[in-house]
Amino acid sequence: MGRKERIARAASRTAAEARETADRDRKRSGRSTKASGIQPHRHCSVCWAPIPLAADPAVCGSEDCTATFEKREGSRKRLTIMLYLFPAIAILLAVLSSL
Ligand SMILES: [Zn+2]
Repeated sequence: MGRKERIARAASRTAAEARETADRDRKRSGRSTKASGIQPHRHCSVCWAPIPLAADPAVCGSEDCTATFEKREGSRKRLTIMLYLFPAIAILLAVLSSL
């Protein structure tokens, strides 16, 4: 097999792969639920695995995901508390200093 031939074959194979990938992407971008036949569902908030719509909390059930989710939830709660606590303290100080 000549060098030229080998290069030509490699090029056509690459083109075929590219076409295949494009086809797959086009299929995937069919966003409508009806068209894809996928049941309504949600995704694990950690690994994005599909889980039932009613799953609460939104994790897939693996230990890693549950632990990560709980850690995240904990820091989110702390952040929410601080979000209210700091302005409350600021207002309290303002009121106290105006007395
Ligand atoms: Zn998960």
